[in-house]
Amino acid sequence: MIRSRPCKTALSKSTLPGLAYSFNPYWGCMHGCLYCYVPDVMRNVMPDLKWGQEVFVKEKVLEILRLEVKKKIPRVVGVSTATDPYQPIERELEITRKALIILSGAGFPVSIQTKSPLVTRDVDLMMNKKFDVGFTITSTEREFQRKFEPGAPPPEERISALEAISSLGIKTWIFYGPIIPGYNDSYEEMERIVQLGAKTKSKIIYDRLNIKPMVLKRLKIVIKEEELSNRDRDIYSLREQFARLEALCRQHGVRCEFAFP
Ligand code: SF4
Repeated sequence: MIRSRPCKTALSKSTLPGLAYSFNPYWGCMHGCLYCYVPDVMRNVMPDLKWGQEVFVKEKVLEILRLEVKKKIPRVVGVSTATDPYQPIERELEITRKALIILSGAGFPVSIQTKSPLVTRDVDLMMNKKFDVGFTITSTEREFQRKFEPGAPPPEERISALEAISSLGIKTWIFYGPIIPGYNDSYEEMERIVQLGAKTKSKIIYDRLNIKPMVLKRLKIVIKEEELSNRDRDIYSLREQFARLEALCRQHGVRCEFAFP
């Protein structure tokens, strides 16, 4: 059964770098990443939402979007910032696809971020240079995905989709985050991700773990609490790792930046 809830707006103002608005077709995300801080951000809006276990469709969101694009200046829309726009339910409902048609028809540039190869379904809409597509690639190892991103597609599927989209001339980027010390910050891991960036001409945006209360609760399932509470060590370690990543990017001619400078 597909459940829905009414919504008031389709486009929200965004404070994220490079985005003017965000469009989130769904509430909730079946990818259920343990490090996701969206549940913390939404806990006053939808306190009962079981993250990773349920998704709600926003009622009439496409009708609302059609009205809103007529009133707003066409500036970059992030699709999406609080859910994965290509999580499994999208295969059937195509709300993201229909939203992309509305946005591009109204002249809005669109920046997509996903972990799903389903995004390749919509490349026919993306050939007008007003789209860019970012893949979150936290690790090239399945073990990391199984542990931290239990409902998300495995890394090799994301990598193949990234390569396919890049080969069509669509602008792509890689979101390498969060970097979790001891889990996805080895030199070899970084090198593989940077090489992928070079191969696909993708900029790398990297980020650290943002430990909010609900993130901590979920991460405790797979990481010992002492490791998470030792924040000084993590910050020190990450300074080193960020420097190493940036050096690797320079070496491979890949553009690279911190997610929230
Ligand atoms: S895919 Fe993104 S929105 Fe979905 S759970 Fe993972 S981090 Fe959160």
